[in-house]
Amino acid sequence: MALTKTELRFLTNLNKTEDGCWLWRGKERLGGYGTIWVERKNLKVQRYSWMIHFEPIAVTTLIASTCGNQMCVNPDHLYIWKRKKSERNQETTKQ
Ligand SMILES: [Zn+2]
Repeated sequence: MALTKTELRFLTNLNKTEDGCWLWRGKERLGGYGTIWVERKNLKVQRYSWMIHFEPIAVTTLIASTCGNQMCVNPDHLYIWKRKKSERNQETTKQ
């Protein structure tokens, strides 16, 4: 599968550290988070990484990293941050 331009830009802007973190070194930043411009939207790089490695996620879904580094986009370090009530309500309406 060929990579899109954005995927390529994403993957070539990572700094892989000895700790196993993939740190975003792109210039795009917003509020301490790395961001990437995708289809006319500014996405947090952690969300973007999740989407290209795993699956699309809802706008309300939050992605956090186990290593605590906001710039880390290693899919192995990312997890879905479960919110309480509001999130559950949305899941039930979908079914
Ligand atoms: Zn990490």
